Amino acid sequence: MQSKVVGSRGPLWLDLSRQLKYGAEMDWDLISKTYPDDREGIALAMAIHKVVNMSLKDAELSGIDIVKISTSNFSEIIPALSHVVRSAWVSYYKTEPPFDMNEAASSFIGSSSIKVPENVSHVVAVFFNNALRAILKKLRETSPEPESILSGSCSFCGTYARIIFDEEAQRTLFCPLCSHSWRYPRVRCTVCGNTDHETLGYIEAEGIEGVRVYFCRQCNHFIKAVDIKDRITPDAETMDAITLELDELAREEGLNPVP
Ligand SMILES: [Zn+2]
Ligand SMILES: [Zn+2]
Repeated sequence: MQSKVVGSRGPLWLDLSRQLKYGAEMDWDLISKTYPDDREGIALAMAIHKVVNMSLKDAELSGIDIVKISTSNFSEIIPALSHVVRSAWVSYYKTEPPFDMNEAASSFIGSSSIKVPENVSHVVAVFFNNALRAILKKLRETSPEPESILSGSCSFCGTYARIIFDEEAQRTLFCPLCSHSWRYPRVRCTVCGNTDHETLGYIEAEGIEGVRVYFCRQCNHFIKAVDIKDRITPDAETMDAITLELDELAREEGLNPVP
């Protein structure tokens, strides 16, 4: 067997760090390898992710008021969401969805439970979550660059960052919905803004290299941070997905995920 020698282009993570983006094409193989018992569910999630992104192409997004989006008021995108989910559903199942699409979209945006028959609710949620992310990401990419503000929540869509990438002194936060990324101080809670060393800290888990759970004892929230010089790191969304064990660990410590 021949091994390939890679030329001296500097450490691998340096090259990778330039490509890091939430919402870059996800590494489904890596997710599947991380959760071998859930291969079937992951294959379904990947198929839905792809079909939703294809259905996004002809969605009408031009009339959407992005000022409302910045306050997490997503009612503006209900028509686009209905359109994308319906079209993705039809191309995947070759049949019309067995529920009222507008009612489902409104309930998805308005509350946490989607008004659809129980037997399809799980799969419908996967369609809606993917469609919401795809629409917000496209809106952000086609809108002016959001202004940079000192906040742990996204200045484009108002969602709290769920994962951090650290590179030397630089900390970058990623929005899990629209894929926006922005700089943030190293020593500052992303939820309440606390900067007191005494009440900020982190936990590491054995066997998970280069990823820590940072917590704040003032608001009791946690967020995961990847040190990108310590590990070869895929896109932020995949990174979040393959470290769910840490979320579990943080919950066991009595910490809450970001709101
Ligand atoms: Zn966002
Ligand atoms: Zn806090």
